[in-house]
Amino acid sequence: MIEVDGAIGEGGGAVLRTALALSAVGQRPIHIYNVRAKRAKPGLQPQHLRGVEALGKLTNARIEGLKLQSNELTFEPGVIEGGRYHVDIGTAGSTTLILQILMPAAAFAHNAVEVEITGGTDNPMAVPIDFLKNVTLPTLRKMGYRGEVKCTRRGHYPRGGGIVHARIEPVPKLQALELTDPCEVLHITGVAHCVKLPAHIATRMAHTASMTLIKSGYAKVDIKTESYPPDRDPHLGPGTGIVLWAETERGAILGASSSGRRGKPAEQVGREAAESLAKQLRTGCAVDRYLTDQLIPYLALADGKSRITSAELTMHALTNITLVEQILGVKFEVEGQLGQPGGISVEGLGFTSGAK
Ligand code: ATP
Repeated sequence: MIEVDGAIGEGGGAVLRTALALSAVGQRPIHIYNVRAKRAKPGLQPQHLRGVEALGKLTNARIEGLKLQSNELTFEPGVIEGGRYHVDIGTAGSTTLILQILMPAAAFAHNAVEVEITGGTDNPMAVPIDFLKNVTLPTLRKMGYRGEVKCTRRGHYPRGGGIVHARIEPVPKLQALELTDPCEVLHITGVAHCVKLPAHIATRMAHTASMTLIKSGYAKVDIKTESYPPDRDPHLGPGTGIVLWAETERGAILGASSSGRRGKPAEQVGREAAESLAKQLRTGCAVDRYLTDQLIPYLALADGKSRITSAELTMHALTNITLVEQILGVKFEVEGQLGQPGGISVEGLGFTSGAK
């Protein structure tokens, strides 16, 4: 049984997600205590419960401690058959964080995994759906990961109601990733959206983001807007946000985003995302601050030596590294300090499920 202290490092939901995801991939039982101990409301909250339940279904697991506010959990994964699943979070809880918990195991299932999730798609503290689609998944595909995601309706806090479909095909193994020197930026793309709000909000976000990027020296910028006429807007909303991503000569994709809220000018939302992207691009690193923590488990599972440079080594990334080292027995080399740009490398396990 793997023993994990949920209070390590960041001590939040990410520790729970990564630990369970790796338990599922390796089909090794796990006991997690001090679940989300460093959060204001510790233990399992509704969105975490849904995530554990979803992984339980995917892996035919036996679970103990699956109740609200539980701070201890035992998870014994079984066979990962694959097939179709439906997860209704029931609140605006993040659909992409449910996928974060399912995605590693789904890649090693016997059959393709198709999942429909209803909940939030554009939550301020989680992976925005456009980031997952345009930054995380394209980067994972460079490692051989086979996953697609489609959003048929957006969901925002507090009403949720977003719908996301994901399809993940099994792979025999993942390949190592080398993303160290991004070289020149080829172009910057983006989506500025608003639902149940006037269209000018998306236009103003996109315009300010474009101007900010052009002033920062990036000539090729193309930010699309997405909005809906009031009589044909299917969302529960209201909500708004922007996601930007830069693609570079050497195949790196760095993203940044910002979300709106009542009283926050659209121009500020656009500027925040653009300034964050420009700042990260100036570091000369190939991976943005959020993608860094998301990639860690995959680098450890992949076959051979992976190397990335990160625009910022966050507490999330360093926590994930400690946790993945403990569970998989790999050793990461980290150059740089918390809050600074840095380098990460690891000799991956070359994990294979033997299923395909
Ligand atoms: P909880 O707060 O429920 O305990 P948590 O602390 O794990 O959960 P976070 O750590 O805030 O939740 O975020 C989880 C994930 O969301 C991380 O993988 C992080 O990279 C990703 N994420 C957060 N914000 C963004 C963003 N703006 N763009 C891309 N990814 C993001």
